[in-house]
Amino acid sequence: MPRARTAARATRPPFRIGLGCDRHPFDPARPLVLGGVAIAGAPGLAGHSDADVLLHAVCDALLGALGLPDMGRRFPSSDARFRGAPSGRFVDEAVAEVARAGYVIANVDAVLLAEIPRLAPHLEAIRAGLARVLRLPADRIGLKAKSGEGLGWIGREEGMAAQAVALLQEEPPVASPAPRRRPAGRRVTGRLDRRGARRGGGR
Ligand SMILES: [Zn+2]
Repeated sequence: MPRARTAARATRPPFRIGLGCDRHPFDPARPLVLGGVAIAGAPGLAGHSDADVLLHAVCDALLGALGLPDMGRRFPSSDARFRGAPSGRFVDEAVAEVARAGYVIANVDAVLLAEIPRLAPHLEAIRAGLARVLRLPADRIGLKAKSGEGLGWIGREEGMAAQAVALLQEEPPVASPAPRRRPAGRRVTGRLDRRGARRGGGR
């Protein structure tokens, strides 16, 4: 392994954790999209992009784990390119940053906070959608839905929120063959041991 890469590995923490949270007000004129999955018959969310509150929280968790600026700074709503954009593209970019930094996603755990619609019937589809966007097996994704219990702006059915944590782990190094060693206690007598002669007391 090149020395610079070895040094980078030596200073890189083996794990990094990130936290993301997001909220959007309802806009019944728009479709509701959660984890890249359209939920029929539910009020949508207002936002510059497709307002996928779950993907936004996950995206911020990934960027946060890497110590990078959050979505608001990276994909500003003042940028017309992101108008109505599917939020999967933001997550794609965050996933690419994870790989670029030498990590893989170990798991993601997320909570959707909403008084309406009732999300329980859709949770598995949303979880599968999130797994597809993250290119992870579904068993690496935790997803829960909590009602607002009538409290605050969520309880008043004004909008929806999401929270997510993501754990990154160092990408496994490419397997390299273990250095060969002469068995301990073996003595070279008579004919010269070829391996020993070549290696000359391994540095
Ligand atoms: Zn958002």
